[in-house]
Amino acid sequence: MGEFELIRRLFRPLAEATRQDGLLLGPGDDCAIQRVPPGQDLVFSVDTLVEGIHFPLRYDPELLGWRALAVAVSDLAAMGADPVCYTLALTLPEADEARVGALVSGLQEASLSFGIALAGGDITRGPLTLTLQVHGTVPQGQGILRSGARPGDLVAVTGPLGGAAAALDWLDAPYPPESAKPLLDCYHHPIPQVDLGRQLRGVVSAAIDISDGLAADLGHILAASGVGARLEAAAIPRQHGVAEATLEQALYGGDDYQLCVTLPAGELARLPWDVASKLHVIGEICRAEGLYLQHADGPRESLVPGTGYDHFKYQ
Ligand code: ADP
Ligand code: MG
Repeated sequence: MGEFELIRRLFRPLAEATRQDGLLLGPGDDCAIQRVPPGQDLVFSVDTLVEGIHFPLRYDPELLGWRALAVAVSDLAAMGADPVCYTLALTLPEADEARVGALVSGLQEASLSFGIALAGGDITRGPLTLTLQVHGTVPQGQGILRSGARPGDLVAVTGPLGGAAAALDWLDAPYPPESAKPLLDCYHHPIPQVDLGRQLRGVVSAAIDISDGLAADLGHILAASGVGARLEAAAIPRQHGVAEATLEQALYGGDDYQLCVTLPAGELARLPWDVASKLHVIGEICRAEGLYLQHADGPRESLVPGTGYDHFKYQ
């Protein structure tokens, strides 16, 4: 199958299946056209996933489709944006219809689940790589930035952490125990917090999605806001599975895709119960820079808020 055959047989149907009203022109022309409603800002971001670096070699293509879009949409969630449409630049070693078809199924499931339309793309030959540019909208001026955290704000996360890191031990197991399933789900089927992001618009002072681990990603908020934070070790929610994810996995493991947010205590008190109950308060923003972890049994540890995974540092 050639490039145009792949587009006609697989990607155009995917675009049709995921089409939404504001997409005036989908795949087939030189560009797509998306109408942005008046009073909205366009929010967009691009992510690349390379085989063997961002996902294992010979990874299940259907899971890859879900994961690629989920991870890209997670950045929209962190800005409080409503997903709108995306483009997909796909580099394939070969045009294997069954594998590309499975990839498209995974993308379709994710597209429908997050309400985001495929608007166009590009196909080239080479090592398996997916680049997705996702577009969303927020009411003018309401995008949630990393730079808004203020001393006294609470630090909260939207769900348990460390699951994807704990899953790494089971990825290659031919028969993982049933109890490993919640961990493996965290890795294979991340769920971007789109609804929560939208509900937290105008409420939280800063947000980031946790892709490189809590310490690194909260570190980005602290650096952008020029503040520090104190966390309570016992308050950090950890994913249950074969065993509970360790504190290390919760702090430094990547691929969680929960949100880490900061907000004044008064805002938390005003949130409706169904939203407030999803926020786990884990600490507080302070004036003095640095990231500190208070252990229940006394010692306070200084965490170096690393910069997360650096592709050129760890080769
Ligand atoms: P151009 O040469 O003008 O950049 P292409 O030949 O790359 O156009 O693509 C032709 C059309 O097919 C474009 O509208 C493009 O958006 C669409 N397309 C190409 N690859 C994909 C894909 N993987 N998914 C969706 N649409 C695609
Ligand atoms: Mg062209």
